[in-house]
Amino acid sequence: MSFASQLQAVAVCHTPYKQKFGIPRQPGLVSARGYVELVDPFNHADCVRGIEQYSHIWLLFCFHENLAQGWKPTVRPPRLGGNEKMGVFATRSTFRPNGIGQSVVKLHGIVKRKGKVCLEISGMDLLDGTPVVDIKPYIPFSDAIVDAKGGIAHDAPLQINVSFTRDAKEQALGYAKSEDRPDLVSLIEAVLAQDPRPAYKKAKDDAKGYQVALYDLDILWQMDGGNALVTAVIPAQALAKS
Ligand code: SAM
Repeated sequence: MSFASQLQAVAVCHTPYKQKFGIPRQPGLVSARGYVELVDPFNHADCVRGIEQYSHIWLLFCFHENLAQGWKPTVRPPRLGGNEKMGVFATRSTFRPNGIGQSVVKLHGIVKRKGKVCLEISGMDLLDGTPVVDIKPYIPFSDAIVDAKGGIAHDAPLQINVSFTRDAKEQALGYAKSEDRPDLVSLIEAVLAQDPRPAYKKAKDDAKGYQVALYDLDILWQMDGGNALVTAVIPAQALAKS
């Protein structure tokens, strides 16, 4: 069955996450700040009038980076180590028939940036530039179900410890002086504490060097005794050139 309505973006979400690897696997795991910028013809204060009275909002969005890869009836959830199959509708897979994702995020307020109405948010699990197709208030009496069963994802993932080499810490503190990324050090710690590697590697050492892209920086890190060790924080272009 098809329907006449065609989805269009009502907003774009801006986040520090510049590539998929390293983005938290669900909202609320890392309290990174970002904002949702309304786009025309929705870029009007009237469209969000009254939204400040809610502490959280739902973002319905498009997994736009994965649309081209299509979808399959079954997927292998990372939580199960990539070995077992589950139905696409039994998972939060990013490869879905209509490519729709949904996340609850904290709402901090409404601001205007360069003539655009923006919602300041935190805790999102979205790639920078993700198209948002709808925004709705989170309503605790109905949306929060305290005795709900969480299936294979009942508990939040375990976290690992994160440390820095002395040079990497100095680099991170230096870049954190910019008002564009004041939370840089705590953001790196929170992102790597999730151990972004495939789930079957969880907290186990391997010899590989890894990279996550936050803001305009590349964070280089490796595993060290079951923990993440940050070895360098460098401008994003530097890695591309090397
Ligand atoms: N909370 C949402 C949901 O349940 O629909 C998203 C969960 S999904 C497992 C979260 C992952 O989606 C992130 O870790 C990131 O790798 C990926 N992701 C985020 N934004 C994306 C985008 N615009 N296109 C493709 N993948 C994206």
